Amino acid sequence: MYTLTDSGQVAMTTAQEQFDHDWRAFDRAHVWHPYSSMTAPIATYPVVAAQGVRIRLEDGRELIDGMASWWSVIHGYNHPVLNQALRDQLDAMAHVMFGGLTHTPAVQLAARLIDITPAPLQQVFFADSGSVAVEVAIKMAIQYWYAQGHTERTRLLTIRNGYHGDTFAAMSVCDPVGGMHELFSGILPKHLFVRAPQCRNDADWAEAELAEIQQIFAHQAHEIAAVILEPIIQGAGGMRFYCPQYLRRIRELCDAHDVLLIADEIATGFGRTGKLFACEHADIAPDILCLGKALTGGYMTLAAVLTTQRIAHGISDADPGVFMHGPTFMANPLACAVANASVELLLNSPWQARVAAIEAGLEQGLAPCRDFAHVREVRVLGAIGVVELHHPVDMHWMPDEFVKRGVWVRPFRNLVYVMPPYVMTAEDLAALTQAIVEVVGLAEGRR
Ligand SMILES: *Cc1c(COP(=O)(O)O)cnc(C)c1O
Repeated sequence: MYTLTDSGQVAMTTAQEQFDHDWRAFDRAHVWHPYSSMTAPIATYPVVAAQGVRIRLEDGRELIDGMASWWSVIHGYNHPVLNQALRDQLDAMAHVMFGGLTHTPAVQLAARLIDITPAPLQQVFFADSGSVAVEVAIKMAIQYWYAQGHTERTRLLTIRNGYHGDTFAAMSVCDPVGGMHELFSGILPKHLFVRAPQCRNDADWAEAELAEIQQIFAHQAHEIAAVILEPIIQGAGGMRFYCPQYLRRIRELCDAHDVLLIADEIATGFGRTGKLFACEHADIAPDILCLGKALTGGYMTLAAVLTTQRIAHGISDADPGVFMHGPTFMANPLACAVANASVELLLNSPWQARVAAIEAGLEQGLAPCRDFAHVREVRVLGAIGVVELHHPVDMHWMPDEFVKRGVWVRPFRNLVYVMPPYVMTAEDLAALTQAIVEVVGLAEGRR
């Protein structure tokens, strides 16, 4: 690599030399972070360790983590049980291919997932990330209809304000405007979108909310492979909550029109909403279920797609006879081992009481934000708290204010939101919400 020296001479330095000189400058100049600019990067904070609900920065400061590393670290960082599960598996094997070989970490995990998810889900496909799980779910739905001779059933129907991941099929069902993928809309498959449900709880449910989807089903059901949605809580597409009755009615409509239902529980799964899976709020079972994020307790990337025997056998009993997907690192044994330990840890913990306590703490701690004129709404469900502002937050300012106050909160657009690890104490939670009230309050003065 060539650089200009102070005297204007061309000098050659290796990337390694630049890294050794100033690794943070090297990071800014050469490493993409999620949704980041290489010319106007926002601050990134160097982390050296994490323990429990605390992230330790290089300069010694500790941050109370409000994000659970994007929904995933439900048990806290550096958990001895999860560490041990990984070490044990590491001593046996880190990885083997899953084509033609099998291992108990994966099969044990499949058994656990089948036992804790809705009863009709009996077959498990392991994928390597949430987005890939969504790709797999969509392929499953389309291949199922292909196997039934319904090659015209290739479209998906979804609700606006959704987020399903960053790969192409996943992008095509994200909110077309707020889903962060607007610029690709010209080359994405055109799927069907309906207005996001407006009901918050079953009390304000109005059957008229279904008018649009009923209209589409009446005319186009024969070309729809599946409805895909995030049950009860829409995450990165807007952090919206909606009523269980909507989900129940969607299930009924899907049944009536022979359309499959894909539930994307990548964010909501494993207790986050107060139920083990958000579908339980409506007491429904999807035909295909996507899991990810908290599956390994935030230790490794792993996702799972569960489906029914009808779909699995439907695909397998027709040409080409196999499901057309198989990632290189499918069912990685380390990831499966830590997922097994994480699910077991969750089920053996008082997670309902913990999530309920966090819900109460968020409700109480975030309530003062309701008094700010620039706050549109404060909403809490399970271990999720959202402060929605009227305007987008300044990402070059706000995260730093949180860090100054010893908490880790990473807003997006006009949303300041947290979903802490379930093991957070009442004291830490109060410190977290206090910081949010302060910083959101300051944001008002800055406008
Ligand atoms: C995060 C997320 C995804 C994508 O998962 P990745 O692991 O980031 O690919 C998909 N759907 C939902 C609901 C998510 O929250």
